[in-house]
Amino acid sequence: MPYSYDNQNIFAKILRGEIPNDTVMETDHTLAFRDIHPQAPVHVLVVPKGSYVCYDHFARDASDAEIVDFNRVIARVVEQEGLQADGYRTISNAGEAGVQEVPHLHVHILGGRPLGRMLS
Ligand code: C5P
Repeated sequence: MPYSYDNQNIFAKILRGEIPNDTVMETDHTLAFRDIHPQAPVHVLVVPKGSYVCYDHFARDASDAEIVDFNRVIARVVEQEGLQADGYRTISNAGEAGVQEVPHLHVHILGGRPLGRMLS
């Protein structure tokens, strides 16, 4: 099913440079920046620069280069933020049931404290 992308969403505005952000890494296809309401000492959002609403949209429609780059940026942020030793969590909320606030794909990287169990 095709997704319709709202280019007025807040991350689209960040990607166009209309709203400032605290960038931690940027490549041709991907931007990583600190969440404005951090839920952990490290809370970074990784977003593709292309117009994708959520993970399945991206994984289905993005080019191989975008998909590889996005995943490599996640790995490089984990390393740069020093999260490998103690561990971390990645989350990507999608749609209403997933309680996605911003309709542009983003993966949260959380770490720097014990995160507790999420699934039981
Ligand atoms: O996964 P979800 O869509 O709920 O998360 C959106 C995230 O974007 C929130 O953690 C919020 O704090 C963050 N945000 C941000 N900068 C903005 C607007 C939202 O970091 N300008």
